[in-house]
Formats: sequence, C-alpha cells, structure tokens
Amino acid sequence: MDLRTGAAQRCSAADEKDPKPCDGPWTAVTTLTADGTEITGCLQHSARLLASLEGSRLHPLAALAPWAVDVYCRAAELPPFAWLIGL
Ligand SMILES: [Zn+2]
Repeated sequence: MDLRTGAAQRCSAADEKDPKPCDGPWTAVTTLTADGTEITGCLQHSARLLASLEGSRLHPLAALAPWAVDVYCRAAELPPFAWLIGL
C-alpha cells in the first residue's frame, strides 16, 4: 500500500474499483484465497472479497475475533464483485 496516495485511505482488502469506504477495523479479519494468499481487511471489504473469490475463506484465527460471523453473513448476501453492479 502506498501511504502517499488515496489507496492509504482504505484497507488492503479493498479492490481499486470498489468505491465503498471501509467499515470497522482495517485488520478485522484475514481472508485466505484459493491459492493461499492472505489478505487482511475491514468487515466491508473482507466480505466483498469473500463473496468474489471462489475458494476463499477466512483464516482460522478469524474465529478468535468478534467479526467472523458478521463477515460471513455479509458475504452470503453479496453477489461476486458487487461493485461492478453498483452495490
Ligand atoms: Zn476496507
């Protein structure tokens, strides 16, 4: 993340094309992609990432944080790449 640009205003899980602001701590949960990449982000963007990337899941340690169920519930209500259709 480049701290000198606008990208610094959002968590690491936010897609560049997703205009939604972060919701919650920027390090709320870590998402594991199908290839094992770990992406830590806020509630909003982690849920959107989870809904978009096939085979992704929350890191097992997310169970220790109070937000894992919230992120899964949000992801269940989102289509993949929700920002492409204005959600
Ligand atoms: Zn975020």
